[in-house]
Amino acid sequence: MARLVMKFGGTSVADIDRIRNVARHVKREVDAGHEVAVVVSAMAGTTDRLVEWCRAAAPAHDTREYDAVVASGEQVSAGLLALALQTEGIAARSWHGWQLPIETSNAHASARILDINGAEIVERFKAREVAVITGFQGVVKETGRISTLGRGGSDTSAVAIAAAIQAERCDIYTDVDGVYTTDPRVVPRARRLDKIAFEEMLELASLGAKVLQVRSVELGMVHKVRIFVRSSFDRPEDIDPHRQPPGTLICDEEDIVEQQVVTGIAFSKDEAQISVRHVPDKPGVAAAIFGPLAEASINVDMIVQNVSADGATTDLTFTVPASDYQRSMDVLGKVKGTIGYAQLDGSTDVAKVSVIGIGMRSHAGIAAEAFKALAGRSINIRAITTSEIKFSVLIDAAYTELAVRTLHSLYGLDK
Ligand code: ASP
Ligand code: MG
Repeated sequence: MARLVMKFGGTSVADIDRIRNVARHVKREVDAGHEVAVVVSAMAGTTDRLVEWCRAAAPAHDTREYDAVVASGEQVSAGLLALALQTEGIAARSWHGWQLPIETSNAHASARILDINGAEIVERFKAREVAVITGFQGVVKETGRISTLGRGGSDTSAVAIAAAIQAERCDIYTDVDGVYTTDPRVVPRARRLDKIAFEEMLELASLGAKVLQVRSVELGMVHKVRIFVRSSFDRPEDIDPHRQPPGTLICDEEDIVEQQVVTGIAFSKDEAQISVRHVPDKPGVAAAIFGPLAEASINVDMIVQNVSADGATTDLTFTVPASDYQRSMDVLGKVKGTIGYAQLDGSTDVAKVSVIGIGMRSHAGIAAEAFKALAGRSINIRAITTSEIKFSVLIDAAYTELAVRTLHSLYGLDK
């Protein structure tokens, strides 16, 4: 007997038929003798629609009311799943964030979980009752108002609940059957990984792979919650309880015996490049550029600055999320006088391609191989960043797919 958290995303609960399918997945685990807490997302498309309604009602909306509106999606799916489970003859009860409670910070629309009280649901496990918990939402500790965790937040709810009730594993049922070496839509030869280390998954998720919310992986790493990503599209009846189902286990580095040098390739087209030309090469200039951007809550990612040849001026290039491009240009336009640059230019037609692998810590020359391979395809690199277990290159967006495919085969990741 084990204690499990089973999380189902929006496509897995998209309609009543799918919800019945989820109920049978849950029944399978209950019948095997496990204690189960289920975490659900809103039915596919629901949250988008609720967000749209908030925008339509008030373009600059009060985030407390936004949370009151968008949290409703999960309340519907949780109630429906509890009903479907009861129909299967399983004792089940739905729980909203405030009912446990799941206490969060006061940052409405992107709140952080502070504490979860799982006592009541654990108590009810004794009577073999399944808890169906709304993902994505909690309650602000100081004010008691409903809060949400940011888009994709149900993953984070699930991992946090798994930590709180000391579950053996957090199963994330989704519309793909695991984490792949890269997006299979771009590289059909991409392989599903049996295991991936928390740190690698953290990089993959931060750098554009959309399988899990980044925060959920952070939580898993801190609380050592093993996360298993698997498909909700398998028919529950077809799953052999005595065999390991297809999927990807996100776990500690030590639990991975055959460590590859490169584990995966991520990419993001949601990038913009900004170059500030002929800025004075003197102390305080970087602060004058990045200070105002930070104040505007704009996240700067890659930064490249040259050492000037004449000792007088230099160019500075960096990236921001494409959605913040115009705002960044406006901010920098306003401080032109204080920075004293000659020209500002930029482009949103860029993409970031990243290579990730824990093995890079101990292998030299991994990035150099990539630069050579990309040159062989005449792909120009605009900027580079590196860290201990990954490096990223900024290229023209038109070459994204070619670059990803080239690197995928270069590192032997093709099937
Ligand atoms: N329903 C929320 C969203 O669409 C949370 C989630 O699905 O994880 O962002
Ligand atoms: Mg999701």
